[in-house]
Parts: sequence; structure tokens; C-alpha cells
Amino acid sequence: MESAEIARRFLTYFEQRGHTVVPSASLVSEDPTLLFVVAGMVPFLPYLLGQQAPPWKRAASVQKCLRTVDIEEVGKTTRHGTFFQMLGSWSFGDYFKEDAITWAWDLLTKSERDGGFGFPEDKLWATVYLDDDEAYGIWRDKVGLPEGRIQRMGKDQNYWDMGVPGPCGPDSEIYYDRGPDYGREGGPAVDEERYLEIWNLVFMQYQRGPGRGSDYEIVGDLPAKNIDTGMGLERMAAILQGVDNLFEIDTTWKVLERAAELTDHKYGSDRRTDVALRVVADHVDSAVMLVADGVLPSNEGAGYVLRRLLRRSVRNLRLLSGGAGGSGRGTEERFLHELTAASIEAYGPQFPNLVRDAANIQTVIEAEEAAFLGTLRTGSAIFDTAVEQVKRRGESQLGGEQAFQLHDTYGFPIDLTLEMAAEQGLKVDEDTFRRLMAEQRERARKDAQEKKTGNADVSVFADLLERSGRVVFTGYDQIDGEATVIGLLVNGVSVPSAVAGTEVGVVLDRTPFYAEGGGQLSDTGVIRVSAADGTDALVEIRDVQTPLTGVVVHGGVVRAGEITVGAPAYAEIDTERRRAVSRSHTATHLLHRAFRGALGDSAAQAGSENAPGRLRFDFTASGAVPISVLRDVEDEVNQVLITDLDVRAFHTSIDDARAMGALALFGEKYGDEVRVVEVGDYSRELCGGTHVARSGQLGLIKVLGEASIGAGVRRVEALVGMDAFRFLAAESVLVSQLGEQLKARPEELPERVSGLVTRLRDAQRELERLRSAQLLSSGAELTSGGTDVAGVTLVAHRMPDGTAADGIRKLALDVRGRLPAGQPGVVVLAGVPADRPVVVVATNEAARARGLAAGRLVGAAAKALGGGGGGKDDVAQGGGAPLSASGEHAIDAAFDAVRAAMRDAAGSIGVP
Ligand code: ATP
Ligand code: MG
Repeated sequence: MESAEIARRFLTYFEQRGHTVVPSASLVSEDPTLLFVVAGMVPFLPYLLGQQAPPWKRAASVQKCLRTVDIEEVGKTTRHGTFFQMLGSWSFGDYFKEDAITWAWDLLTKSERDGGFGFPEDKLWATVYLDDDEAYGIWRDKVGLPEGRIQRMGKDQNYWDMGVPGPCGPDSEIYYDRGPDYGREGGPAVDEERYLEIWNLVFMQYQRGPGRGSDYEIVGDLPAKNIDTGMGLERMAAILQGVDNLFEIDTTWKVLERAAELTDHKYGSDRRTDVALRVVADHVDSAVMLVADGVLPSNEGAGYVLRRLLRRSVRNLRLLSGGAGGSGRGTEERFLHELTAASIEAYGPQFPNLVRDAANIQTVIEAEEAAFLGTLRTGSAIFDTAVEQVKRRGESQLGGEQAFQLHDTYGFPIDLTLEMAAEQGLKVDEDTFRRLMAEQRERARKDAQEKKTGNADVSVFADLLERSGRVVFTGYDQIDGEATVIGLLVNGVSVPSAVAGTEVGVVLDRTPFYAEGGGQLSDTGVIRVSAADGTDALVEIRDVQTPLTGVVVHGGVVRAGEITVGAPAYAEIDTERRRAVSRSHTATHLLHRAFRGALGDSAAQAGSENAPGRLRFDFTASGAVPISVLRDVEDEVNQVLITDLDVRAFHTSIDDARAMGALALFGEKYGDEVRVVEVGDYSRELCGGTHVARSGQLGLIKVLGEASIGAGVRRVEALVGMDAFRFLAAESVLVSQLGEQLKARPEELPERVSGLVTRLRDAQRELERLRSAQLLSSGAELTSGGTDVAGVTLVAHRMPDGTAADGIRKLALDVRGRLPAGQPGVVVLAGVPADRPVVVVATNEAARARGLAAGRLVGAAAKALGGGGGGKDDVAQGGGAPLSASGEHAIDAAFDAVRAAMRDAAGSIGVP
């Protein structure tokens, strides 16, 4: 049975039993405390936690999930993927244990012909929580499951809670026995690989008290009991398709098979290879799903997880294609284009957005692959230096700090560091590495949460939402208006009042203030609050945020008086700023339209910032955008401004909006009803922001330039209105000043400047030529300063700092030529051209006849400088590590090393 059919049957079964089918939410969680949706219930949390009234009594869904905690299990167990889909059903204060259990059993065992999954009854096992006699009784008496196949498990296995006071309750899990090939007899209590958990039924019935881990007390019953069930779609598919694991099912197999083909492996012949192929298939699926949900690779949060998944894929592909031994320095071949295509093809029928956004998904993933291959190249060089240092110190372990730096700065994965270190016979201080990683992760998590919630506990906002409902935004057509203060926050805590001087978050029941969102910066302004005694208090508002959908918090400072919850207020935005921001926002739409026209649909918006007078627009593109395109886009948009088109906003259904060709933001989530903003017939885009009334109000747009801001994403910055004009005016002044200084008309400037540059370069060359001539003339002097070392003339000299390496070399040859022929002679010249020392050794024929090879001598010198080098017998060059303050001594030591080597050579051929 195909995956899509499993999903369809599940939903149909529950729909027939009164459940509303709810579409999958984005993988990126709305809950600021969670990065990703990790279970089907996550989007339903506000209902399950009693923060919001559920719109339905019963619901069912197929939810995309991502579990990074399972990342290390992937490919090693048969049952864990990072990406998977959870089939879920819910009762919100409606039916409870009996229906949940008997329906689950019915759907699993009902024949395929009757719409079920046709599992043989004797293969199914169930677990219940220790003292949950009610569930035990239902399994035994209502379902008729033999007691031998019902096991009681402890709190760590069969109990659910959120880790904080709130709902909790026992659960009951259903397992499928895959037979003796998979492990030992004895049920899930004994072996979870043989007995595969397919479905978890959670019974939320109690209220938990405070405490850590599973150490808490039950403080009472929940007023409304809920059911939350989750079944793994991929695990079901593995069983129903008769395959061994999640990676061989219809969807993921397409990617795995392609990966095996591309890397020339036969799946199933070697465990290590198989695991690597499974990891690749799983991670590519996860990456495709994440990018499709708008995540871009970055160094923090969700973007970091995506980056990690892609890097692990690349890394495993390199191992796979690196042949036997797999040193991790395998080929630089790129595979992700093909694998992404395979994944999109596999999931396309279920997720049409993958097909629609295929070009963007490809752009992002391929660019990250290319960037990482580059990283591996640089990282390997840095790794080599680190290893050399460790060895020089005679140690056997690479420090945790070094491993962390390799990871943090150069993006070098730890497993690669471990493996390459092992090849060098070194260990890595993993404990320190992991501690540093954990510290960094904690910092990142805190930062992300703080920005969104201003450090407040989200439950504060959830409470507000529950009590007062969603805040009404009046700002599309009003710049001020009356409202009521419904909440005040100081340092993240709800307070009844706040006095002058306090930093405060004000929540109103309705507001003209636009909260930062959709790339548009928030409004600023003032809120006047009337006090009971008739005086007015004033709050200056600087930043407006939406910590939770439906809640708007105006952040600012009380300037005068005292404000209290419940008081009438008058909110007024800074209209100048609003107008300027709106101009930028409309300009962003026009640029989006124009870039799509110029570069094709793969140039989709991936982020933006609309600030007063200036905007930033990010979009996916595989390479730099040519200047000519930028100029055409700018031209086209300015044309639209002159045409003075009408700007209009209206609400419609998402389907109608798509049919009208409205541009949607890549990876953005939209509800059924959407707001469309159109500029004449030129641009139509889904948008919740504020805009001007006519395109002519923008005045002028000036595109400043374009740059890469990460793999596959370009950023354009532009100025709008007076800011654009002032910029052009300032440039014009600059050009006239240059013209005056260079005595040229503006159009002559480029040629004049290029002439100056050429002359400067010629002068520099001439200077260099003179310098080396001068150097060579010192040859005679040096030659006379030779000393005798074991019967050989040695000229050793340190050149002035900054002498170029090839100057040193030339001089060494020159000095050698001046030594008397027939008399053995060695020339050693050292210098520091930039930060690292360079040493050149030249030997004449008589010296070589005595066994003095330049290559060997330079080796001795370079070693003393902490580096290496080599070359031919007659002339050789080497270099050392950067010189510290003791540089003088290092170079003296290098000369000494040459002398010692010369004496050794003399000793070995018996010359006194
Ligand atoms: P396990 O103990 O096998 O890791 P779990 O207890 O973590 O499973 P739940 O959190 O109860 O699983 O999730 C409900 C269902 O989701 C499971 O019964 C299983 O079918 C599926 N599931 C959980 N984790 C994964 C995963 N990493 N990959 C695929 N399916 C999963
Ligand atoms: Mg698990």
C-alpha cells in the first residue's frame, strides 16, 4: 500500500467518525519555544493546554514532523527518520479512552477491502501505563486482546506531560511484531526493534504539579479530558510494503536508490554503506521539506538545523563516492541536484508546493552544497595546520577548542574532524567540544526567544488572548483611534499599572499600530491613557511586536502620568514614518515583480525589510545578478511610478488569489482567506502590510546594488522617494568635485582615472626593478663575507624585511656565481617578505660533489623555522611558520641548522 493511500485511509476513517480533517501545519513551529513541529499535536497545543477554545470537538491530520533528537538514530535503527509524517486524531473534551482504543484497533485490523490496514490480530501488542486499569480493561475486554500481549510500562515510557504544570496523563502504545528475524521474543518491554511502535494513544486526564522530569505529583483531574493519538506513516508503510525499514518505503526509496546509483553502490551489500545511503535519503527529504517551508541555511535556529542536515548529506555522499577507506576527502562531485529532484518527485503528489517551488528549492540546496564543498577545502588546510601543531608539541590529542573552532568558524563537522584525526593517529577532546557546543546552542536559543517575546513567558500572551480575544488592527485606513488598555507588561510580567519612567508593553483591544511583520518595520507613535482623575498619561511607543498570533504588544516608555489596565486610551501613530515605510513596502512589491520578469520565477522573495526611505529585498538566485539587469529593473519600476497606478487591497480565498496569479512569498504559510495587494495590473501579491494609495507617491526608486548574503540568496538594497533623490543629488556633487580635481568632464572621468591607475602601476614596477638591481649589486659584498665550515665556504645572510622571495632567490644565485669555481661553496639567504620567513639555499658544483644538496640543507633550515621546504640539489627554497617576537633567533637557529648539517655531511664522507 502506497504512503499516500495510508494517509488517505486514516483520514477517511476518522472523518467518517465525525473528525474534521485539518491540513498539515508548516514544519516550522509557531510556538516560540519549539523550533520545529515534532509531533502531530504541536499545532493543536493551544487547544490541548486550554489556552484557546478548540474550533472542533474532533480533528484528524497528517502532520509533517521533524525530530532532530533522532538524528543519530537515522539509518542505524530501522524506525527513526528526522523527517516523518504523523497521522493523528484528537478529541477535545469529547470521546475518551474506549473509543480511542477500539477505533485504533478497528482501523488496524479491518481488512484492506473494507478500508482498513488488514493487520493480523495476533501480530499486535499493546502497552499501558502501570496503574491504568481502565485502558488495560478496554484492551482485554472490549478489544479481546489476550493478556499475554498487553504489557504494563513505567512513567518513562507510557506517560505524557509537557515538563511543566499543566495537563498530563497515561498513554497506550500499539506495537507490531515483525517476527524472530528482528529480535527476541517477549513483547515491546524486551525489544523495540522487533516489536515496532506504530501508534501512540495519549489520554490527557490529569493536572500535574510542579517538579522535575517524572518527579511530580498529580494535583487533580482535568475538567475536559482530551485524546491525542499519533501514528507513524512511514512505519506503517514499511510494514504494509513488506520492507525492512523506513528508508525502503515508496517515497524515501526513490532518493536512496538514486544516491546508490550516483555513488556507484549496491544497496544491501555492506552495512556501513547502507547506513550512509539511508542518512543521505532521510536528510535530503528533510532538507527539501524545510526549504519548501521557507527555511534558509544559516548559523542559527531552524536554518542551522537545515545546514547541518545538508552538510551531513554532502559528507556522507563524499564518503560514499570516496571509494574504499573513505578518507572523507573524496570527490568534489555534486549530487544534491539529482537527489533533490528525486525527493520532490517522490513527495510531489502529496505536497504540490514542492513541485511549484522546485526551482527555488533546487537553488537553495545546490548553493549550500557548493558552499560546503568550499568549506571542506579550506577546513582541511586548517585542520592540517592544527594537527602539525599538536604533533610538534608531542601531544596525541586535538583540543576541544580547536575542534569547536573548526566547526564554528569553518563549518567543519565534528565527525569529519574525528575521522581525519584518527587517520593521523590522534584523538579529539570530545568532552570539551560538546560542552562548547551546548553552551553555544543555549545562547542561540535564548536570543531567538527573547526577541519574539521580550523575555515574557508565552502563557502571559496566551492568557490575554483567551480573555480578550484577538486584537483588531485598524491601521489599514486609520492613523489614530480610541481603544482600551487590556494588558500591561513590565519585564515580561503582567502588571495592573505603570508609572512615568517605566519601560512597558501595552496591549490594546484595537490599534492602528502596525506590528513588525512581513518585512515591514513597526509603527512608532504615542498612546495617551486617561486616568480616573481626568489627567492624561502618555506612553511613547518605539517598537510593536506580535509575540503570539492575535496579540499586539506596543513597547515603549511611560513619559508622564500613570497608566492602568482597563483605562480608555487614544493611540496615534507617527504618520510621516508610516508613509515612508509604506512607500518602501510598495516599492518592494514592484521590485519583486520586476525581478521575476527579468530573471524568471525562480527569483522568489526570501525576505525583506521595509524601513523609512530604504528597503532590502532578498530573493533566491543561483548567481550574481548582472548590472544590466539591475539597471533594467530599476528603469521598469520607475516607469511604473510615472504611470501612477492605483494601489488596491482586498480579501479573497487563497485559491482565487492563486488563480489571479498573485505572488506568494516563498515558504510563507497562508490561511484560507488572504489579503491581496495590487498595483494597477502590474503587480499582485499576497500581503498583510500597509501601502501607498498610488504608485506615483513613491516618487523615485534607486537600486543601490546587489550582493550575496548566503548560499543561493541575493540581496538588493534600494532607496525610495526623497532618500533616492538625495542620494542621486549627492553623487552628482561628488562627480563634479572629481571633475574639478582631475580637470575632466564627467564622461571623461573613467578614462582619466584608469590612466592614473596604469601610471601608478608602472611606477611601482619601476621601483621594484630598481630595488632588485640594488640588491644584486650587494652580491659582491656578501660573497666576501663567507666563512669556512668544514672546508666549505658558507655565505649566510639575513636580508632586510620586506625583500621579496624571488629577490632573495635571485641574489642567492648571483652570490653563488661569484664564489671561486672549484672551491666548494654554500649560500643561505633568509628573509621575511611578509609575515612568514623564507629561506633559499644554493650550492655550487664542488659543494654538491661533497654531498651537500641544497634540498636537504633547506629542509634543516626550514625545520628550525617551524615549516618545511625542499627543491633540487643546486637550489632549494623553504618557509617557516609566522615569526613571533623571537624571529631573530629563529633565523639564527636556521643558519645554525645549516652549519650542523654541513658538518654532518662532512663527517659522513670523512672530510676533517
Ligand atoms: P520510539 O520510541 O520508537 O522512538 P516515540 O515514543 O518517540 O517512538 P511518539 O513520540 O510516541 O514516538 O510518536 C508517535 C508515533 O510517531 C510513533 O508511534 C511512531 O510511529 C512515530 N515516530 C516517532 N518518532 C519517529 C521517527 N523518528 N521516525 C519515524 N516515525 C516516528
Ligand atoms: Mg522517539
